[in-house]
Amino acid sequence: MLANCQYCVGAKQSASNLIRHGFYFRTGDSRRIQRFRCKTCKGTCSNATGSRWFRHKKRRFHEALREHFASLGAVRRGGRKFKVNRKTIARKLVILGEEAEELLREQNTVEQVARVI
Ligand SMILES: [Zn+2]
Repeated sequence: MLANCQYCVGAKQSASNLIRHGFYFRTGDSRRIQRFRCKTCKGTCSNATGSRWFRHKKRRFHEALREHFASLGAVRRGGRKFKVNRKTIARKLVILGEEAEELLREQNTVEQVARVI
């Protein structure tokens, strides 16, 4: 659950003003997502709001694409394999790469620099 409303961040309220406000069905991965409503500003948000994957489609391919790119899979081959456009795969490659780089920085506590050939 979200801690605070992202729209009234500057207001600095100690208690959360979010209350549950229904669901929506996310077709990208067939999940039911909880929505929240702020009691102060009446704005609504969900757990997906503000995340890296906000408004992304084809979420069910993400894990398979991670494996595909980790084993040096090509963009066009990925398009054929997952039956989506190669430009979709290229966009996913960029954002999955950013996510992987961020995870590496967080988890690489030893002062070592990873080399990518
Ligand atoms: Zn608010």
